[in-house]
Amino acid sequence: MTFQIAIDGPAGAGKSTMAKILSKKLQAIYLDTGAMYRTCGLKAINNGIETKDEKALSEMIKNINITISFENNHQQIFLDGKNVNGLIRTPKVSVAASDVSAYKAVRLKMVEMQRDIAKVNNVVMDGRDIGTYVLPDANIKFFLVANINERAKRRFAEMKEKGMNPDMKSIIKDMEYRDKNDSSRDFAPLKQAKDAILIDTTNLNIEQVIKVMLEYINETQII
Ligand code: C5P
Repeated sequence: MTFQIAIDGPAGAGKSTMAKILSKKLQAIYLDTGAMYRTCGLKAINNGIETKDEKALSEMIKNINITISFENNHQQIFLDGKNVNGLIRTPKVSVAASDVSAYKAVRLKMVEMQRDIAKVNNVVMDGRDIGTYVLPDANIKFFLVANINERAKRRFAEMKEKGMNPDMKSIIKDMEYRDKNDSSRDFAPLKQAKDAILIDTTNLNIEQVIKVMLEYINETQII
């Protein structure tokens, strides 16, 4: 039997940080579903496709060639055979990912891949709709939130560390845009599942959040 841990929430709430640590501790793979939508966004940009053109995106997605591998628990994502891990973390791709992920055809294709991976692996999967749509029967579901200033501060520090030159105002603007876009789309929007555990990480450090999550996970007896 495999287990599934779902972590949803808006950008910067701590999903990927917690998912990485938990997957290591629990010997599961960490599937970052955001990277998949980012790769779709990148493909649209590369092909000159307008990211709000549903018809063109629905055509594009039919033949998209995305593959994923895990090297020492680090997800590697490939578009048409090329590793795009480093190319999908720009602000432009973030916004494109949010736009293209609103469309059903795009989501259905990505969700199929996500479910296939979860069928045969222990997974910690993070995203926006994992608990509500992708894995409705996950063993445990978390919904992480934090206030926008704290989330933007975290993203700012992350980008600085990567040698980028971030601007706080545009980080907040992008986050607000994505929050609204992701929560208001018709199909599988960002929403807390009824049975998800809500954790506000605004005033908690990483160790504190992990401690709380592990307490809940231990109760499920999946490990
Ligand atoms: O998690 P991350 O910020 O990398 O995700 C990028 C974008 O992909 C999100 O803003 C959201 O629009 C979309 N996404 C989604 N469903 C998921 C994961 C990400 O719609 N499960």
